[in-house]
Amino acid sequence: MKALQYRTIGGRPEVVTIPDPVVGPGQVLLRVTAAGACHSDEYVMGLSEREYTFGLPLTLGHEGAGVVAEVGDGVGHVKVGDSVAVYGPWGCGRCLKCAQGKENYCVNAAAERISPPGLGAPGSMAEYLLIDSERHVVPLGGLDPVKNVALTDAGLTPYHAIKAALPKLGAGSTAVVIGAGGLGHVGIQILRAISGSTVVALDVNKEKLELAREVGAHHALLSNSAAVAAVKELTNGLGADAVFDFAGYQQSVELGAALAGSEADLSIVGIGGGVLGVGFGTIAYDVAVRTPYWGSRSELIEVLELAKRGLISVETEVFSLDDAPRAYQRLHDNTVRGRAVVVPNP
Ligand code: NAD
Ligand code: ZN
Repeated sequence: MKALQYRTIGGRPEVVTIPDPVVGPGQVLLRVTAAGACHSDEYVMGLSEREYTFGLPLTLGHEGAGVVAEVGDGVGHVKVGDSVAVYGPWGCGRCLKCAQGKENYCVNAAAERISPPGLGAPGSMAEYLLIDSERHVVPLGGLDPVKNVALTDAGLTPYHAIKAALPKLGAGSTAVVIGAGGLGHVGIQILRAISGSTVVALDVNKEKLELAREVGAHHALLSNSAAVAAVKELTNGLGADAVFDFAGYQQSVELGAALAGSEADLSIVGIGGGVLGVGFGTIAYDVAVRTPYWGSRSELIEVLELAKRGLISVETEVFSLDDAPRAYQRLHDNTVRGRAVVVPNP
């Protein structure tokens, strides 16, 4: 089959032909209908030889959807022909976190070398994708896989961050979204759908600010030091009740800290390498700084429900598998509007 692989440290992804995966006991084989390109893949491909731990070659793609092509012995509920989305942060399935559906925080995954597809295990940027357990797939119902595949990460990750901050986001509150890219533009819609917040979007790119307004941000401003005064003015001097930083660079992390009002949640979601020094008096009183990772299985089901009800949608740009390297180039150049989605089996 054809697959998009990262093959050499510092290289760019390449379309190659590799053997078709063979389904084993308990596993599910998907004919991939859609695969999303996440900025985390760019981060992974930017790591040095010393930092890189995902194995080479790596078939990319940790946002996946597919139609079940084959099931292994012992698979009970998933059937050939089902259209499903893939829950990516696989865990052991036995520990306390996994029992709560929070496989993203599995305590055994690292020791047992359990990796998400596209981040260690072979990913979704291929004609076929092997899933380790039927537990990891969620029915798409009538949802279009191409339009909704990105909800498995670009939807699930902001949902997980926002849901934890919800007690602070009642009517009259203010939430700031830093970075209106793949994650951020869905995050804005989730805030509009499930919170009472006024939503302020910040980005360094004017086209992304335009997208932020189109998907429901009440205010969209350039992400610079002037935004601090603007947010103070919008909040009667109090600052934001929650800040979701989907960039995570040094500039954005410091900006987020300056925007957070007392008792705010400051969620650093982006992996831009920014570091925040926190001490008494350096930040508003009682700000909770969080670094959430991906989301739980139940939260993915909830995100798909929001989409089914028409409350959230993903702005997508579609690419063939042969053209997937260009999708990553566009992501690298910060010119994607919403999410780049690869369709391996047209
Ligand atoms: P993206 O490239 O689609 O979007 C990033 C956006 O941030 C762009 O619109 C860009 O213009 C904007 N931006 C860049 N610098 C900025 C700044 N200083 N201030 C404001 N905006 C700025 O990327 P994405 O796929 O949405 O991913 C966003 C980040 O989240 C990446 O770092 C990615 O690796 C990370 N991520 C984290 C998790 C997690 O579980 N924590 C999951 C998925 C992605
Ligand atoms: Zn991702």
